This record gives sequence, C-alpha cells and structure tokens, in this order.
Amino acid sequence: MPSAEERRDELKAVFRQASVCTRCPQLASTRQTVVFGSGNANADLMFVGEAPGANEDKQGVPFVGQAGKLLEQLLNEIGLQRSDVFIANVLKCRPPGNRDPLPQEIDNCQDYLFRQLELIEPKVVCTLGNFSTKLLRADPSTGITKLHGREELRVIGPRAVRLFPIYHPAAALYTRSLLDTLREDFARLPDLLALDPPPQPEPEPPPEPVVEEPELVEEIEEIEAAEREPAPPQLGLF
Ligand code: URA
Repeated sequence: MPSAEERRDELKAVFRQASVCTRCPQLASTRQTVVFGSGNANADLMFVGEAPGANEDKQGVPFVGQAGKLLEQLLNEIGLQRSDVFIANVLKCRPPGNRDPLPQEIDNCQDYLFRQLELIEPKVVCTLGNFSTKLLRADPSTGITKLHGREELRVIGPRAVRLFPIYHPAAALYTRSLLDTLREDFARLPDLLALDPPPQPEPEPPPEPVVEEPELVEEIEEIEAAEREPAPPQLGLF
C-alpha cells in the first residue's frame, strides 16, 4: 500500500510526463499549457470536467473561468474549499475554439485520468457533464440528463469509487432550472462523503516469474561465461 506521500510523488511524475505530451498533434501545437489538474492529491472527492477553456489554457489550472467560479461557490455552500478536492478534466489540453473533444483525443488522454484516479484514491468521483460521465461509466449511450444525481459503485482501473454524475456548471450558468438541480445534487455530496469507502477489488497478483527452459539456462550460462573471458583484441576498436 503506497503512502499518501508516495502517491503524491508519483502523481508529480505523471504531471511531468503529461506536461510535454504530444499524443494529440493538433492540441499539442495549439495549447499554451497542459492543464493537468489541481487540488488535494489525497482528496476524498474528485471532480472530472470536460476540457480546459481559454482561461484554463492560459493559467494552467482547471475551472478558473465563470464555470469554475460557480463550482467554487457550490463547494463553499456545502462547507468545502477548492483546496479540499482535486479537480481534473477528461482532456488535459484545450481543444481549439472550445470544440468538443474528439474520440481519438479522449482515447489518447484517458491514461492520465485513470492514473490520477489510481493515485489520488478518491472515495467519491463527481463527473461534470456528459464527456466525463460517459468515459468513466464506459457507456457512451447514456447521458447526464438521465444519470445526474444517481450515485453508483464503479470499478475504474484498480479502484472502486462512488461515481456521482452531475450537470456541468457551464450548462447551469445560463439555465436557472439546471442551476437548481445542480445545487440539489451538490447538497447530497456531504452524505456520500460520510459513507464508508467502497470495498476495494482484490489487487491483481504480480506476474508469475518467467521459468527458463533448462536448455535456455545452459545457453545463458555459456553466454555469461564467454562474456567473462578476455575480449578478443578487435573488440577494442569499437
Ligand atoms: N470546463 C471544463 O470542463 N473544464 C475546465 O477546466 C473549464 C471549463
């Protein structure tokens, strides 16, 4: 069981890797920064949005624009600060013109999100809107209108989490009724966080050690013995 400090160090290593990522050539050439995610690396609650917008791309931090202000306000209303939670997105780079993420981009980027979930070990994962909900439920056909406010246990990679889809705050900025629904769903979070962590799946057993065939062992021993012998003089030329 890695400690919180070990998991945080590993998260930093994943951040360094992501910050020079070129898996999506278009996004890598149009972005200003990679927006990896921010907050408490040992948070019980993690939010997953869609992709950085223009402000996030400039500042390198997720949810710093209008939608971010609303997210922060809703957090404050349930007694939490931004620094208590971890906030990330499905895509770590801004799609130009704020277009929707492409399936290939989601595919290229998903490892980073799965590693974040594995290393932060949140109890509750709140997906914001359709893109993160569909990705983390591995079900592209059921949308947020049907799923919002319904908690479910999900195993994502090696971790079990309580998944809690809610509307994206950007959608609630312009539609009063969605804001009311988002606020109601948010109000359920303290109770979800108070539940015991979900039972975790058995860890995968480590891979079996490779058993060498006897002839192979002999061959390896011969090679090793030959390597111990003085090198033939011509090898000194290289
Ligand atoms: N919308 C998102 O989905 N993510 C951000 O970081 C900002 C706006």
